Amino acid sequence: MAMDKTDLTLSVVIPMYNEEAVIGLLAGRLRPVLDGLNEPYEVVAVDDGSSDTTFPTLVGLRRSWPQLRVVRLRRNSGHQAALTAGLFRARGAYVVSIDADLQDPPEKIPEMLSLAREKQLDIVYGVRNDRTTDTRFKRWTASGYYRMMRRLVGNGVPSNAGDFRLLSQATIDVLRQLPERTGVLRLLVPWVGFPSGEVVYAREERAAGRTKYPLHKMLLLAADSVTSFSAAPLRIATLLGIGGVVLCTALAVIGFFAYLTSSTVSGWASLYVAVLFLGAVQLLCLGLLGEYVGRIYTAVQGRPSYFIGYDSAEEEPTQAEPVLSGPGGTGR
Ligand code: UDP
Ligand code: MG
Repeated sequence: MAMDKTDLTLSVVIPMYNEEAVIGLLAGRLRPVLDGLNEPYEVVAVDDGSSDTTFPTLVGLRRSWPQLRVVRLRRNSGHQAALTAGLFRARGAYVVSIDADLQDPPEKIPEMLSLAREKQLDIVYGVRNDRTTDTRFKRWTASGYYRMMRRLVGNGVPSNAGDFRLLSQATIDVLRQLPERTGVLRLLVPWVGFPSGEVVYAREERAAGRTKYPLHKMLLLAADSVTSFSAAPLRIATLLGIGGVVLCTALAVIGFFAYLTSSTVSGWASLYVAVLFLGAVQLLCLGLLGEYVGRIYTAVQGRPSYFIGYDSAEEEPTQAEPVLSGPGGTGR
């Protein structure tokens, strides 16, 4: 089915990493919804360097589903990078991003689209009103994460809005122009701050397969999120420094009087504690500084975070193409 690029009203971007188990289920639920719109659409499946049969499965599926477009990254680059690759290549007037595992219901896509059109919105967030299917640990870490992000980025960050959302091409254009490399999309999008709305849904259980988000990726995401939006942690260093000065002044006064009364032999404990404390404070502050210097270093190097290996819309293997967004392996 030949389509003019500019005709597409909707692109659905799906990052996939070793998702062979869910592709069939996903297609089974997504396709009827999109076909039911009666509008020209494309589904951009981004294979994030999977080591299972995700890629051949997608290519096979394409034969019976011409609107399916398959993009392959040359290596695993992480959820955010895969998502960014898909968003930047999407051609639809509106672009919805959704996870492959059916935790976010595809049935909500038409609702997002009509809300955006009705109210002239550039952004529609999918907001989870029910996460009871997530583990207690996931919910606990997620709520901590969102609380922190709202404090750092501002209240524009809807809590419990993941990467299920609709963006207009205009919004994606803004993202394309950002020189940022550690882009955490769920924070950058609220930062863009175009007119937005919300569609509420209940989070479902992963349809098949296992989570691709182990704890260390979640921690990396949190570190990326904080440092890409705030220098507040550096202020901890200043505060600790001030605390240290006050404490040391007090100790100096005590020391002086102890010297005057010549009871200077004791005091081993306080000396011990002071040395340990200052050592710890200095190391902590150095570490914080290093975190930001590291980020500046990465930004200056300007290495692309993913390489496009294949795009079925071009039918020819493309040149390795550098594009922006989070460093390789960094989580969502
Ligand atoms: N994903 C990816 N690259 C990765 C890790 C994950 O493209 O390195 C995709 C994955 O296939 C899924 C989405 O990101 O479509 C979200 O991952 P997952 O559902 O495992 O995360 P969770 O819902 O457990 O937080
Ligand atoms: Mg999931």
